[in-house]
Amino acid sequence: MDFKDQRVLITGSTRGIGRAAASAFLEQGARVAINGRREADVERAIGELGSDRLVAAAGDLASADACRSVVESAIRGLGGLDVLVNNAGIYSDGPVEMVDESTYDRMMDVNVKGVFFCSNAAIPSLRESGGNIVNTSSECGIVGFAGMSLYCASKGAVSNLTRAMASELAPTVRVNAVCPAAVMTDMTGDGIAPSKLDDYLNELRDSSLMKYIAQPEEIADAILYLANPRSRFVTGSMLSVDGGSTGCR
Ligand code: NAD
Repeated sequence: MDFKDQRVLITGSTRGIGRAAASAFLEQGARVAINGRREADVERAIGELGSDRLVAAAGDLASADACRSVVESAIRGLGGLDVLVNNAGIYSDGPVEMVDESTYDRMMDVNVKGVFFCSNAAIPSLRESGGNIVNTSSECGIVGFAGMSLYCASKGAVSNLTRAMASELAPTVRVNAVCPAAVMTDMTGDGIAPSKLDDYLNELRDSSLMKYIAQPEEIADAILYLANPRSRFVTGSMLSVDGGSTGCR
């Protein structure tokens, strides 16, 4: 997969899946804008990734203004845009009757509004370059899981936004999503007491058909597949990278 001189913005790329994607795009010759909520985290990630093909685009993507300013600084730094990876996201669980309004608002603002308005700001440049968008949805954007209603609602929105934008922007701009099951990042196990983490991770491994938890690099490979110009007939697709969790019993 050759991304030489392709200009790529990856939201939420200071760690986890986004950071693995940044590293994979860099390996394939791309120039990459790194985003995270805090400037210090963005600078740290850039230092660790260690390439002169990186630009900083820090900002908390929970508002339309912030999305616009992050996308504008990426476009300024990269000189245009070929790929937008809407990857930033947060997770929390709990039954519907326990979720309060501020948790609801934060989840929807980051996971849905962020994807919507980063796309909104990036579309003119993507139309110009004939580029594409890859959204990080989830297995929770395909099926409903007990105790995860809010996260499922947010990722369900990302999945269907992907399909709607793919229809709207065809044939110039492709839009796809990657839908992972549990991935070994800081997000997985967040909120689990340290004493219970090993049991929790073992349960996740046991419940997977493939008997392991995916590494972020495996999701990054799927993102690069979707973003690649050779996937030119792939649009509106939900690429499951979930060890069979959504399709198999
Ligand atoms: P992570 O917590 O390791 O990393 C999240 C990244 O998003 C970080 O760089 C963080 O700075 C950034 N971010 C969070 N809120 C932000 C905001 N308001 N503005 C800007 N940046 C923000 O998580 P991850 O596991 O790498 O998750 C990445 C994406 O993958 C998310 O959309 C998540 O929902 C999705 N996902 C994760 C899993 C999993 O098991 N880890 C499974 C399916 C889908």
